[in-house]
Amino acid sequence: MKKAKGPASSGKPNPPPPQAAIFSRLSFLHQASSILPSPSVGLSRYYTSHLLSVSKKSVQRLSPAVKHTICKRCSSLLLPGKTSTTRVENKSKNGRKPWADVVVVTCGFCGAVRRFPTVDKQEMKERKIMKRKEKDISVSSREQETGKEEEEHKEKKEDTDMTGT
Ligand SMILES: [Zn+2]
Repeated sequence: MKKAKGPASSGKPNPPPPQAAIFSRLSFLHQASSILPSPSVGLSRYYTSHLLSVSKKSVQRLSPAVKHTICKRCSSLLLPGKTSTTRVENKSKNGRKPWADVVVVTCGFCGAVRRFPTVDKQEMKERKIMKRKEKDISVSSREQETGKEEEEHKEKKEDTDMTGT
């Protein structure tokens, strides 16, 4: 999501981005393919395939939200409940790991299956780093405690030595 810019401080209207025409074309194609009623599947498919080819030729990446709604095999639009089925899968033992949830989208036309993890990769990395840090902290605190104990032992030994002599 782009942050909405407020009114220009200089008073001049912002010039349109150099690829505004391509953006509007891509947007139109996606909207057109999603608005079409279910009988005109062929036309909808044509629009999506056209959308893909335009984005390829103009080297404009489609947003993941748009990409996830297009079947990679038959390039038909994947509308949950209408042209595709969506379910959540968890292959961890007894579903113990909630972060292993995967959304499985099956195309209603060709049966192609796409899987999307529900947890972001970046989020997982951050979680791992946090866990490592926590471990390091606990280990270092333990080491400090053992160090203290050793010191105490030494002091006790010294005391016994003093009493022995
Ligand atoms: Zn398909």
